[in-house]
Amino acid sequence: MPDCIFCAIAGGDIPGRIVHETEHSLAFLDVNPLAPGHTLVVPKDHYARLDDVPDEITADLFRTVDELVPRVEEAVDADATNVGINNGPAAGQEVEHVHVHIVPRFDDDGGNPIHAVAGDVPDLSDEEMDDIEATLSES
Ligand code: 5GP
Ligand code: ZN
Repeated sequence: MPDCIFCAIAGGDIPGRIVHETEHSLAFLDVNPLAPGHTLVVPKDHYARLDDVPDEITADLFRTVDELVPRVEEAVDADATNVGINNGPAAGQEVEHVHVHIVPRFDDDGGNPIHAVAGDVPDLSDEEMDDIEATLSES
């Protein structure tokens, strides 16, 4: 995909601090890390959102994340990690090439849990929860 910074890194056209590679996935350090060791794991091919990624590549991507989390934690002596995807612009995705953030966390680092990403937290009734449950389980 032209003009995609992560395609450029995957294609070797621009430098990236690559820390791991599989057949379908690439992991490199975030250029503006939220913590030491902040790592991004991407499919080598361009997909904008998680739903666009073929199953085999999704499996490789998450297997790679699973392998990397303990390595990242060990490399920077982290106490924990937040692992997440900004899946679409409304969720804060700025680079439109699927990427999983692995953000090392440290005791008392002043950060927040992943719950802090939400905007106005809704006060849903039981009926609304029932509707969502039914719609989702039937989809
Ligand atoms: P998003 O908001 O799309 O989930 O996050 C994009 C991430 O990509 C940001 O954390 C940002 O620092 C990182 N990023 C943007 N441009 C580059 C780049 O050229 N190289 C690397 N390694 N990371 C980048
Ligand atoms: Zn791309």
